[in-house]
Amino acid sequence: MLIQNDKVVTMHYHLTDPDGQVLDSSRGSDPLTYLHGAGHLIRGLEQALTGLDVGATKTVEVAPADAYGEHDADGMQTVPRQELAGIENLQVGMQLQGRRPNGETVTFFVAEIREHEVMLDPNHPLAGVALTFDVEILDIRDATAEELSHGHVHGEGEHHH
Ligand code: ZN
Repeated sequence: MLIQNDKVVTMHYHLTDPDGQVLDSSRGSDPLTYLHGAGHLIRGLEQALTGLDVGATKTVEVAPADAYGEHDADGMQTVPRQELAGIENLQVGMQLQGRRPNGETVTFFVAEIREHEVMLDPNHPLAGVALTFDVEILDIRDATAEELSHGHVHGEGEHHH
């Protein structure tokens, strides 16, 4: 059975940036199980996995445009630190929801914390970064009708509405 839409895929992955720094990895812990074609993985990775068989290993390079987007230098905001005083454990990389004056919701990532101000960045921390995934395909199965109607994978014996 090969990876294609509507298959449930279990794999190990190891993600590094262009400097070889490990950003994320399933090695040493549980592998990732996902529904192929449902948009749960970043686009460039999902496309590259199509057609692979169980046991396959592959190194996939994903350009920023097919991962977390290009970095947009506009939109950085500096806010007084006390405006965020209500947020517990404020730290760099944390994701915050804000609201524009027109009511539109925006997501910001904490880019830098200074003594009296905090720099907020609308870009994902991995925007502009080319990603390298080393993957190993462990299992491929058909999705159940219930999983297909929900658009995600269920664990063993898991049912919900
Ligand atoms: Zn479900």
